[in-house]
Amino acid sequence: MTYDCAIIGGGPAGLNAALVLGRARKNVVVIDEGRARNRITRETHGFLTRDSISPSEFRRIAKEQIRVYPSVTFAEDTAISITGADGDFQITTAQGQSYQSKKLLFAIGMKDLPLDIKGLSDVYGKSAFICPYCDGWELREQPLVLIVKGADALHMAKVISGWTNNITICTNGPDDLMDAQREELQQHNIPVYDSPIQSIESDHGMVQQVDLKDGTSIACRGIFFRPKLMTGSDLPQAIGCEITEAGTVIVDNFGKTNVPGVYSAGDAATHLHQAIIAASMGSLAGVGINNELNEEEWRNV
Ligand SMILES: Cc1cc2nc3c(=O)[nH]c(=O)nc-3n(C[C@H](O)[C@H](O)[C@H](O)COP(=O)(O)OP(=O)(O)OC[C@H]3O[C@@H](n4cnc5c(N)ncnc54)[C@H](O)[C@@H]3O)c2cc1C
Repeated sequence: MTYDCAIIGGGPAGLNAALVLGRARKNVVVIDEGRARNRITRETHGFLTRDSISPSEFRRIAKEQIRVYPSVTFAEDTAISITGADGDFQITTAQGQSYQSKKLLFAIGMKDLPLDIKGLSDVYGKSAFICPYCDGWELREQPLVLIVKGADALHMAKVISGWTNNITICTNGPDDLMDAQREELQQHNIPVYDSPIQSIESDHGMVQQVDLKDGTSIACRGIFFRPKLMTGSDLPQAIGCEITEAGTVIVDNFGKTNVPGVYSAGDAATHLHQAIIAASMGSLAGVGINNELNEEEWRNV
């Protein structure tokens, strides 16, 4: 059978698109390998009606609600190649399955590149986070270390100052700060250490201190840092989607890419990485795809 849409990726973006398209009576297959970036964390925050839910429970409820719509099918698999064009895409998977679809939605998220600081992977998602809007509340008024450099250090310090006034910046090598930026941080009593980080010491995922190579130890209860990211899959580039320098797919307000019939939503298509933003982008892409399908049907009658 030819599906109306193949959705690659079953996180908040792909699942919300599936919900919209299922309710719009479109035949959809959601191909998902189940390796969401937030699977390392215990709780997802800031999603209205779902605050503090675990990522796996979020997906379980989402799938339960989507299964009400019989035109949506789920496949636990990895899409590995795509051929064809608008109206007739062929998707091949790691398990040797082949799916045909009129439209494609990449909701593939982003992937973290390996963390290059000793001890960081022990605390990532438990007491070291990337987004204060997601996890700042749990670390409010605590001593925090920000691992960040350059203009971004000043920006992150300003943002996090709303949650705590006990901030230390570790630039893990040259700070890349302008003199004025360094002074601004000094004025706000925010120490900046540029010694490389030796290791992060923790207990059951809870950070205790950050040890620097120059012998300094900084006691803290939480860390915010900027991980290096790559797209969840090379498939968008492989079929000609335009990509930003940061590796996200370039889309319009309804998730449409430069390749006819191809959409993208969620972390894969924005630098604002939050579940509710991903879900809303998935919803918009669902609307865009449904409108395009209906328009084509209308013209063919
Ligand atoms: C540690 C951490 C904590 C976070 N905490 C919060 C929080 O508290 N609140 C919040 O709002 N946000 C939080 N986020 C961000 C949030 O997780 C993301 O914004 C959200 O999951 C993005 O949804 P998505 O659907 O775009 O991508 P994802 O949820 O990453 O889902 C993408 C899916 O696509 C699959 N996929 C990729 N390529 C393929 C392929 N070729 N074939 C099949 N499947 C594929 C992946 O395996 C994955 O299952 C956190 C992120 C991290 C890393």
